[in-house]
Amino acid sequence: MPQDFPDPALGEPFLLTPGPLTTAYEVKEAMLKDWGSWDEDFREMTRNLRTRLLAMIGKGSSDYDCVPIQGSGSYCVEAMLGSFVPKDGKVLVLANGAYGLRAAKTLEYLGRDLVLLDKGDYLPPRGAEVAEIIDADPDITHVLAIHCETSSGILNPIDEIAQATHAAGRKLLIDSMSAFGALPLDVADLNCTAFVSSANKCIEGVPGFGFVIARKDEIVACKGNSHSLALDVFAQWDTMESTGQWRFTPPTHTLAAFHKALDLHETEGGAPARLARYERNRDTVVVGLRSLGFETLLADRWLSPIIVTFFCPADPNFSFQGFYDAMKARGFIIYPGKLTVVDSFRIGCIGRLDEHIMARVVDAAAEAIAEMGVASAAPPQAALEERKKLAA
Ligand SMILES: *Cc1c(COP(=O)(O)O)cnc(C)c1O
Repeated sequence: MPQDFPDPALGEPFLLTPGPLTTAYEVKEAMLKDWGSWDEDFREMTRNLRTRLLAMIGKGSSDYDCVPIQGSGSYCVEAMLGSFVPKDGKVLVLANGAYGLRAAKTLEYLGRDLVLLDKGDYLPPRGAEVAEIIDADPDITHVLAIHCETSSGILNPIDEIAQATHAAGRKLLIDSMSAFGALPLDVADLNCTAFVSSANKCIEGVPGFGFVIARKDEIVACKGNSHSLALDVFAQWDTMESTGQWRFTPPTHTLAAFHKALDLHETEGGAPARLARYERNRDTVVVGLRSLGFETLLADRWLSPIIVTFFCPADPNFSFQGFYDAMKARGFIIYPGKLTVVDSFRIGCIGRLDEHIMARVVDAAAEAIAEMGVASAAPPQAALEERKKLAA
């Protein structure tokens, strides 16, 4: 079957990873030009991408502004926490995987007080428990939530969390790194102070910068609060507003690629169309791998269209490295799992991929396990026990 896009991987393996990911040919091509960071054309590109990102956040967008920050996504998380959480603030961190725990560690580095709700590898933090914790602790000023926890692929119930946070009069900060651009994020509905995402996730750009989207009144009010010169959201915003420039060397080529990625995002039909494609990708790989005997960690209700965790088969002939190598030989780079209790691997559904490519992923997996002499892809009993906890 023909795929929707001309070979975006250019004959290299497809990246079934949640960023860096497989980008379109045109996105790569956009990097074949050098830009002067002071030049008006480049400043216009920066202005243009800030405006276009704001156009994606729903009806409340005029109350918000977009501040791009150099570095990977974690730099933006740190910039958001260091800029918006006052030195005497206290954050409830909702963790169910590596990124929630990283946010908690970031706050420790920053010397900001926090309470951690750690739900383990994948159980979702629910609105009712958030309400209970903040009602019992008036010192909590902010709640930090992970939109899609990329460790397991779970889509956290962000609406519930937002409602509980707002009802208690606290401020919400969101790590929407791997969700923004595909999953709906309406700032007015969520009432968030700020959220962050980065170039190399659902917008399908290349790595090099991320962006903080925050209420303008909060940006102005956070002047002088940041622990860091480079990660000061107010200072970055202030310079961009007055000069159109980034404070320090911007990732010029990454920006040009992102600009092209935004064009493609728009042409495709924006976030709803992108979500629909990612859902088709997910459904194709989940149905296909289940037909081979593989099982997903999460029940259908919690499966995100971003990345899916599968249990490794119990068959002694199976090893992750052997499977990885066999998949790579067939043109697909998969991702190890991050569960602490049982072995797992992950398949990303984002990037310039469609369901025809995902059908080839399923064929490749069938060949890979046959080559390894794996008779059944069924997971061990321990994995199924683990999964029962989620149903409970
Ligand atoms: C990718 C990602 C990040 C940022 O990771 P970096 O490696 O710093 O880009 C943060 N949170 C989530 C949920 C992510 O998926």
